[in-house]
Amino acid sequence: MWTYLNGEFILKDEVRISPFDRGFLFGDSVYEVIPSYNNKLFLFHEHLERLKNSLSVTNIPVPDSINNLNLLIEELIKKNKFSNQAIYIQISRGVDPIRSHVAYSTTLPTVFMVSSELDINPYRANPQKKGLELSLEQDIRWKRCDVKATTLLPNIIPFHGGEKSNVDELLFHDGQKVNEGSKSNVFFVFEDMIVTPPKEQNILLGVTRNYFLNRLSEEGFNVTEKEVKVEDLSKADEIWLTSSTKEIQPVYKIDNIVLPEKEYKDCYWYKALKIFEEDLKSYS
Ligand code: PMP
Repeated sequence: MWTYLNGEFILKDEVRISPFDRGFLFGDSVYEVIPSYNNKLFLFHEHLERLKNSLSVTNIPVPDSINNLNLLIEELIKKNKFSNQAIYIQISRGVDPIRSHVAYSTTLPTVFMVSSELDINPYRANPQKKGLELSLEQDIRWKRCDVKATTLLPNIIPFHGGEKSNVDELLFHDGQKVNEGSKSNVFFVFEDMIVTPPKEQNILLGVTRNYFLNRLSEEGFNVTEKEVKVEDLSKADEIWLTSSTKEIQPVYKIDNIVLPEKEYKDCYWYKALKIFEEDLKSYS
């Protein structure tokens, strides 16, 4: 497997980053995850725009490689051969000679990329598969979750050492307000209305979330961005998660709340998945 580091393609076993990298010392870094299908990047420009926003909010200097990022990623995809891949782009503020919260003005950002085979969403081949198991978790993250920062302790801690280590995903809530998953956005169906939390809430504006919002609305479904409360969860007819690597996947239960059983063909998540699969045909 090949990686990319600061202008060079390097084998995974040989690539090295300094322990003085600010990404390691301070979590002073941002990232992006882009899927590729049949060697073609899916929604690249949307991911690039979000990456630029993350760099801009954090004032991490924009590395030159951003200007030909698509070509570099295409090269990495070619080298790693799998026809469907998940490409991770990590950018830190770089390596300073002396540890300090304040970076040297001359420090250049570290740009690292790695890709792996994309596990295709299991619900594509088997829509009858049992849905995901989620657990509610108080959202203690910082207030800029629109920035895709690598500083992910609150997203990671609940999976370690507690009774939540076996759940598929956490569902972050701020008091009554449901925000998103620890690595995905959330959608709800109430009767014939599809609802997802609005961008004004503390969420990452998922590229996949935005894609489904637009496509479902174009296809004539009732879709809205609206706050959903914890107490509404038991009234939902369907709940789904979206992300670049999950695509769209249904939820079976959240803690003790079990979602109503429905024939998959009647489910909105399945209709959304079919729209997605149809759109992907232009990638074959
Ligand atoms: N929210 C969080 C916290 C995430 O980590 C992710 C995955 N990157 C998402 C939402 C989904 O975003 P996207 O659809 O762009 O992958």
